[in-house]
Amino acid sequence: MVYVSNQMRTEELAALDAAHHLHPFTNGDELNAKGARVILRAKGVTLTDSEGNDILDAMAGLWCVNIGYGREELAEVAARQIRELPYYNTFFQTTHVPAIALATKLAELAPGDLNHVFFAMGGSDANDTNIRMVRRYWAAKGKPEKQVIISRKNAYHGSTMGGASLGGMAAMHKQGGLPIPNIVHIGQPHWYAEGGEMSPEEFGLMRARELEEKIAELGEGKVAAFIAEPIQGAGGVVIPPESYWPEIQRICDAHEILLIADEVITGFGRTGNWFGSQTLNIRPHIMTIAKGLSSGYAPIGGSLVCDEVAEVLNGSGEFAHGYTYSAHPVAAAIALENLRILEEEKIVEHAGTVAGPYLAEKWAALADHPLAGEARSIGMMATLALTPDKASRAAFASDEGTIGLICRERCFANNLVMRHVGDRMIIAPPLIMQPSDIDVMIERAVRSLDETYDKVKAEGLLKAR
Ligand SMILES: *Cc1c(COP(=O)(O)O)cnc(C)c1O
Repeated sequence: MVYVSNQMRTEELAALDAAHHLHPFTNGDELNAKGARVILRAKGVTLTDSEGNDILDAMAGLWCVNIGYGREELAEVAARQIRELPYYNTFFQTTHVPAIALATKLAELAPGDLNHVFFAMGGSDANDTNIRMVRRYWAAKGKPEKQVIISRKNAYHGSTMGGASLGGMAAMHKQGGLPIPNIVHIGQPHWYAEGGEMSPEEFGLMRARELEEKIAELGEGKVAAFIAEPIQGAGGVVIPPESYWPEIQRICDAHEILLIADEVITGFGRTGNWFGSQTLNIRPHIMTIAKGLSSGYAPIGGSLVCDEVAEVLNGSGEFAHGYTYSAHPVAAAIALENLRILEEEKIVEHAGTVAGPYLAEKWAALADHPLAGEARSIGMMATLALTPDKASRAAFASDEGTIGLICRERCFANNLVMRHVGDRMIIAPPLIMQPSDIDVMIERAVRSLDETYDKVKAEGLLKAR
């Protein structure tokens, strides 16, 4: 038997990983040839790898570690809960204290009358729940033909069959025969990439009105819901023009459809308020939550549901849906403790009034870099478009993502985790970042951008498409 421990050499660990571990969203052969980086531990905003590098985590893991790493309280709560009740289901007309406490707390924190929660293990399966829930809702109201869910191109709603179908990622749809039936996609409010000569506000309105056109085309009697991320995350931190969401809200109000806000990233302080819907003044009927709900310390997600939808669901017999680990007591207890920390330590306010504004100022200044086309942020998420020609917002002549990947590798070499989406660099750091952390992050980002610029120029890649 192989005994794997953190005392092993990096090469041995990476070899075993290559031999036995299939990575998500990864080219396996490519990764196995170079070996995965082994992350051993983390504290605050810093990861430590098996080579002893201390790396600033500007992605908060995968958009989730809102309170930062290494909080003892969550370890304590997890240990206590495992000793008391490690597992029990909520199918058998049974419940438990962590489920009750978390559902009650979420109802208190959520805006409007989102007073009910159906628990999942993450965002993808919560969105699967949403597909089934909105269809069930309309069937219960005597409108079973309202089946279609409208989403957007380049949206990300997870990677299950349902989640990936709701999402609008072309590369995902190509694999496995997606999307599943009755899910359709309209354009995204991505002015920088697609707005051409229009002003951002004109373009935002135009893209919002695609929703109304799609409803008319399908017939209102066929449409169950519209789903969208308040701010697209995995699509490249796409901050919509200001005209977009008010128009979407108007259209949803004018037609008989449900609005689902996928707040898996934008929830729990990311945009400087508890929910992105508050920052952008959106009134959803259902809200998808995960990631920051537990700050990633345990897998848990869910659907926050408004009074009316919950009443109809509750009043229409059995909803034949659920997961073994819905409201898992250990995950629920951890999430509850995470929410306590976010609230009592005023971390959401910190993100909204201290870290967010400081980041906004420093990040915006990156637009002066010769490689940068736009640099924008909202709360604690930010995006930087790389371009060979600022004035025309041109894409590079090379395959999309070539320059982004170079930049990401320079970032890693400079002990900074920054993600690339195509040729766009994005961050979503832990909300607890102090201005001094942001200074370090920006300094490493600038150094990485300088090195990227040198490399791109030297390799003759500074060409517009
Ligand atoms: C990450 C993400 C999901 C999927 O969540 P998982 O926990 O990975 O299943 C869904 N929606 C959005 C907006 C996300 O960012």
